[in-house]
Amino acid sequence: MGVIMQVSIIGAGLAGSIVYRLLSKQDYHIDIYDHLLVRGCKSMNFIFSNKNELLITKKILKTVNLDINDYIINEVKDINVGGDDYYPNKKFYVINKSKLIEDLVPRTMITNREFNPIIKRYMTKVSSNGTLAREFVEETETKFYDLIIDASGNAKVLQLEDVNAKYKNDIRTCQFLIYYNNSSEDFNKLFIDEIKIHKGKPMIGHTWIVPVGDGLYHVGCAYYKNDHELWEFLNKYVKKMFGNDYTKVCECYSRINGNLISESFIGRMHGKRGIAGVGESIGLTTPLGHGNIYAIHSAYVLSKLIIHYELNKAILKYKKYVVKKFRKLDEDKKSVKSFNLLRIKKLLKEYYNIPTYESIKIMVKSLC
Ligand SMILES: Cc1cc2nc3c(=O)[nH]c(=O)nc-3n(C[C@H](O)[C@H](O)[C@H](O)COP(=O)(O)OP(=O)(O)OC[C@H]3O[C@@H](n4cnc5c(N)ncnc54)[C@H](O)[C@@H]3O)c2cc1C
Repeated sequence: MGVIMQVSIIGAGLAGSIVYRLLSKQDYHIDIYDHLLVRGCKSMNFIFSNKNELLITKKILKTVNLDINDYIINEVKDINVGGDDYYPNKKFYVINKSKLIEDLVPRTMITNREFNPIIKRYMTKVSSNGTLAREFVEETETKFYDLIIDASGNAKVLQLEDVNAKYKNDIRTCQFLIYYNNSSEDFNKLFIDEIKIHKGKPMIGHTWIVPVGDGLYHVGCAYYKNDHELWEFLNKYVKKMFGNDYTKVCECYSRINGNLISESFIGRMHGKRGIAGVGESIGLTTPLGHGNIYAIHSAYVLSKLIIHYELNKAILKYKKYVVKKFRKLDEDKKSVKSFNLLRIKKLLKEYYNIPTYESIKIMVKSLC
């Protein structure tokens, strides 16, 4: 009998759950870790930039016997950008992401704690003269695994050692789930507002309202500001849009990874152990912070390669695939960072069908 491969997946979000579901068809021992009980609530919106993305996502979910149609809460037909209505040139779906993730991997299968590659502990020592001293020791949690998959999203558990470099491009977010009793047709659209290009930064700041159904709205903002400033800004925005007639169901802060794929750690062999990252942890996000599709796609590709090739070959092929397939994400982020007017204009058109004159207004406002 062969030796069973020991796999650890760090994070049970969208990417980690897909990997778990696909690899668990094999004769592997898999541990999947997540410290959060609430899964998948921070983004409820899937945007398919082209027909191909929609088809790939459908196909991937079909391989794990799931149908994307069972998770669609709403198809958004209208977008309101900065007060004007536009018709999107792509498919926007509001997805019940929590249910999707739970159906991929039930909570009961998850080891409900953080996974830290290095655990720091204090040991108590008694010296020869009888005095007690505390000594700091480090242990590694990774030693039992043949394969470790970083699916920790923005936490980027196995990414760059240098903490400053690790988070330097991240955009901060603040989001509320609100209940608005007075639901009208007016709010049954996606609102994108206050778009801001932060010079020298790769992510585009903006505010959004996503109709989730049953009077619920996911309202959020992403800017290079601190948490308090974001909260104040969003509170004012919600009041401006909904008046005083709403109830806040919950609120939280987060961040979105703005690092480039090319500056991320995608995968490598360490001796006989393979390490690879999937989803947001390796920078698979657009400058507008969309990462769901890429989390699904990268997780699927890595799993398939692991099943079909020896570990070292699989990781090598995966690295090549990611760099080539998702190259556009890096190009887009670079063009935002360098304030490339032509490319930003193209990007805004591509994502939200924003006409040129509006994009120019946005860019001029960003410079002020
Ligand atoms: C406010 C907000 C709005 C967004 N809106 C959109 C959108 O509209 N459309 C879109 O496509 N994308 C959106 N995104 C991005 C999208 O949510 C992510 O790109 C996507 O969820 C990435 O999936 P993932 O599985 O890679 O990571 P995640 O979904 O972040 O999952 C990572 C998991 O790892 C766990 N974890 C982290 N550290 C550890 C650890 N040490 N040990 C164990 N577990 C750990 C976390 O608890 C989490 O459950 C948004 C993100 C935010 C923050």
